[in-house]
Amino acid sequence: MNSKKDILNLIKSNSKKDIDLVGRAFDFSQKAHQEQKRFSGEPYFVHALETAKILADLGMTATTVSAGLLHDCLEDANIPREVIEKEFGKEILFLIEGVTKLGKLKYRGAERHKESLRKLFVAISQDIRVIIIKLADRLHNMQTLKYVPEHKQERIASETLEIYVPIAYRLGIRKLSRQLEDLAFPYLYPKEYEKTKELFKQRKKEDLRNLDRFQRSVKKTLAKKGITQISADYRIKNLYSLYKKLERKDWNIDKVYDISALRIILSDVPECYKALGVIHQVYRPLPGRIKDYIAFPKPNNYQALHTTIFTGYGNVVEIQIKTKKMHQEAEYGVASHILYKEKTKILGANLAWIKKLLPFKRTQKQEINYDDVPSWIKELVEYQSSGKKDNLEDIKADFFQRRIFVFTPKGDVVDLPISSTSIDFAYSIHSDIGDRMSGVKINNKMVSIDTVLKNGDIVEIITKQKSRPSRKWLSYCKTATAKKHIRSFLSQK
Ligand code: MN
Repeated sequence: MNSKKDILNLIKSNSKKDIDLVGRAFDFSQKAHQEQKRFSGEPYFVHALETAKILADLGMTATTVSAGLLHDCLEDANIPREVIEKEFGKEILFLIEGVTKLGKLKYRGAERHKESLRKLFVAISQDIRVIIIKLADRLHNMQTLKYVPEHKQERIASETLEIYVPIAYRLGIRKLSRQLEDLAFPYLYPKEYEKTKELFKQRKKEDLRNLDRFQRSVKKTLAKKGITQISADYRIKNLYSLYKKLERKDWNIDKVYDISALRIILSDVPECYKALGVIHQVYRPLPGRIKDYIAFPKPNNYQALHTTIFTGYGNVVEIQIKTKKMHQEAEYGVASHILYKEKTKILGANLAWIKKLLPFKRTQKQEINYDDVPSWIKELVEYQSSGKKDNLEDIKADFFQRRIFVFTPKGDVVDLPISSTSIDFAYSIHSDIGDRMSGVKINNKMVSIDTVLKNGDIVEIITKQKSRPSRKWLSYCKTATAKKHIRSFLSQK
């Protein structure tokens, strides 16, 4: 179960170089974590391996899978970064450091900061692969959440639902966002979870029997009209999205039409429209339930034709019609674009925005087709390449133009106006900390107290009982709070 062979079988590559890399990462990680155990009592290495398996299953390449195997080596096994760089090179070190940095970001239920935190999460990671590794890491942590001390479970589950799920969703990786949702659900809404599960159980059996019969009948109908390149299956709504829907429908499960849906996958777009026509000829559609997400994709780029029809067996079923490519993208999203080919060169021009999240190619000039880009990622890209005049209005509107996010050593997020210094940070924590500040460590290095903070910095204020603010500080800080406290201290003297 935990053998090297399993992970080597999962990666989609036969190249000797890839196999060698993943094999070395496996051995290295196993050795690095050998003294550690998880809350479950399992060896810590199991977590690293499971994370890597999720990545391999998403189709990520050897580099990312190896980074998954090694993702906790810096922080939890205290391996020096130089060792990782020497053994595995700069790229893997970069990915692991990104994941480690993201691990410091904690959500403690500040409602108004949710969207900013999601943006920050993406901004800090810089590289889409870092996010995907972090999502895989979180998925395994959620799968083993029951072993974690109870007082921590709720915070982790709510962080998963508020931060990780929307990111996975917006990146279009539904395969992960659905699983994360369902794993967090019972910890956050236990009563609603039980109720939903019960209603679902009653419906599911009957639904599956009908779907099976109906699927055969639809295939036959389409074949008669010459549509034979079909693969059909059905999907069952995940529990959490069923719950969300039930809430909107007064908990009447008979008003939820898409608990189960028949999925028809065809070779190209014209076939999709043709199939929809044929289906409507034979089965009566429910009015108002026909949706053309091919012509009008959802904000997360989801594409398909949806219709709900009367089956003739006394019930209604949602049918989703899409191409294979649309299906791939709906399940794997951004990840589907880097399947098998992490080399960004291969990405088409309309995916150039992904390159912006990759650190190595950022200097290249690139034509960007923004049509395919979810708007919030667009904002980030513009933020990261700010200085472009034509997008000035967008940039102005962007949160990051006005605020930065930094961390306490414990990982709590503090947001400050842009160009704030450690003095602003200290006073935003507590006036006593500001008044007693004698020095500051930023990202573990001593620096002068007037250093301007950057997004993602970890700031540790050093205080001394006899330290006092000086007049000079007034010109070193940005926030009104800091200035007010410094002036009031100076006037007391
Ligand atoms: Mn981990």
